[in-house]
Amino acid sequence: MNHNPLPMVSVTGNLSYPPRLSVFTQTFWNGLRAGQWQTTCCEDCKKVTFPPKPVCPHCWSPRVSWQPLGSKGVLYSWTRIHAAPAVFASESPYAVGIVDLTEGVRLACRLVAGTDVALTPGMPVEMVVLRYEDGPLFAARPVLESQED
Ligand SMILES: [Zn+2]
Repeated sequence: MNHNPLPMVSVTGNLSYPPRLSVFTQTFWNGLRAGQWQTTCCEDCKKVTFPPKPVCPHCWSPRVSWQPLGSKGVLYSWTRIHAAPAVFASESPYAVGIVDLTEGVRLACRLVAGTDVALTPGMPVEMVVLRYEDGPLFAARPVLESQED
């Protein structure tokens, strides 16, 4: 499993809807700022959870630890938002998707894909960090055949 830092994509401006930071979540957001992609894994039932949680949602164990995630997955579904909520209006239209990571984690995130890219369910994607001027956000982008390892 490749745990190199996620690729960075620079974005002009600030996050439209910054994440709420807490003592628990700052591990995730501070790591993401450096390209570190991680979540929590239960030390009792061994299940991986995303987003990270201080208590395992499968067996309620409080014994969780941080674990690196791989960057690769496939696109489960997607849509392009044209009529965006007010805070995201300046970024519309933008694509969002549901991604299944290789580890079995399913998550929703922004998709970095212009309107010239044909998004299709099952296509390979990789996670990236959108580096806004005031902080990071995770996102996925299609892996085109010529870019694959
Ligand atoms: Zn558990």
